[in-house]
Amino acid sequence: MRIVLLGAPGSGKGTQAKLLVEKYKIPQISTGDLLRAEVAGGSELGKRAKAAMDAGRLVSDEVVLGMIQSRLAKPDAKGGFILDGFPRNIPQAQALDAMLARLGQPLQLALLVDVEKDVLMKRLTGRRNCSKADCGAIYNIYFSPSKAGNKCEKCGATLSHRSDDNAETVGKRLQVYESQTAPLVAYYKAQGKLRTVKGVGPMGAIFKTMCDIIETQIRPLAAVMGRIDAVAAARERAAAKAKAVAKAPAKAVAKATAKAVAKAKDKQTAKTLAAKAKPAPTKKPVKPAKKPAKVVKKAAKPKTKAKKAK
Ligand SMILES: [Zn+2]
Repeated sequence: MRIVLLGAPGSGKGTQAKLLVEKYKIPQISTGDLLRAEVAGGSELGKRAKAAMDAGRLVSDEVVLGMIQSRLAKPDAKGGFILDGFPRNIPQAQALDAMLARLGQPLQLALLVDVEKDVLMKRLTGRRNCSKADCGAIYNIYFSPSKAGNKCEKCGATLSHRSDDNAETVGKRLQVYESQTAPLVAYYKAQGKLRTVKGVGPMGAIFKTMCDIIETQIRPLAAVMGRIDAVAAARERAAAKAKAVAKAPAKAVAKATAKAVAKAKDKQTAKTLAAKAKPAPTKKPVKPAKKPAKVVKKAAKPKTKAKKAK
């Protein structure tokens, strides 16, 4: 499943992404992590990214897309991916679509975790962290205040408020997000790939809704595609076999068969000798073991649930 996750800072998108990774065993691809890894690894793309960053420039979309592409080639991304933090604008979304089209792996779903702005403000500005490094408790003065006031209810240490969690900074961040994401939402909506999940309420319930959306949007499609692939592959194999048989001259076939018979006999003999330490068995024509014809498993018919579009 190939998913782009959209959601404001404070939407809980990161937490949900981790749960999705666990459930569906596909990697979450965050461009920030990719950049750090490529730079640290000293790859060609990493060097270019570092040069841009050192010069105070933004890393070009081309470089970021190159990193995503090489990440997608890793075995753990075979079953799909969750893109987080990319794309951020229409040109990036178009470039991503073009790249995925080249790979034959188009996006299947753009999932927006939607939370109202005043809730986001409270979530981000109300956050309080325990100042004791090995405690790590997190509170929110609006939603989950500490019972000990400005002290951690677990360890008694003072709670701290990050300086960039003030209303002005948070407001600006949300504004930037809004202006960047609104066009993307429209972009994926026009493609029929956008689905929205309300990011309020219990985390488990939000996750369940997301999974339901994924199952109904992607799974039936994947099953159909899988069946088509299997049928095509079976046809290809049959065609290749027919071609090989038609091409092979009769003499060669007879020779190959004789060779196979001899080989099978040798094997049988060696086995018998090893097992029983007896003289070779009497000459008895041993037929080569016929391989059972490959049975192409019929893919289960996908349940065509007529789901009402929202
Ligand atoms: Zn604490």
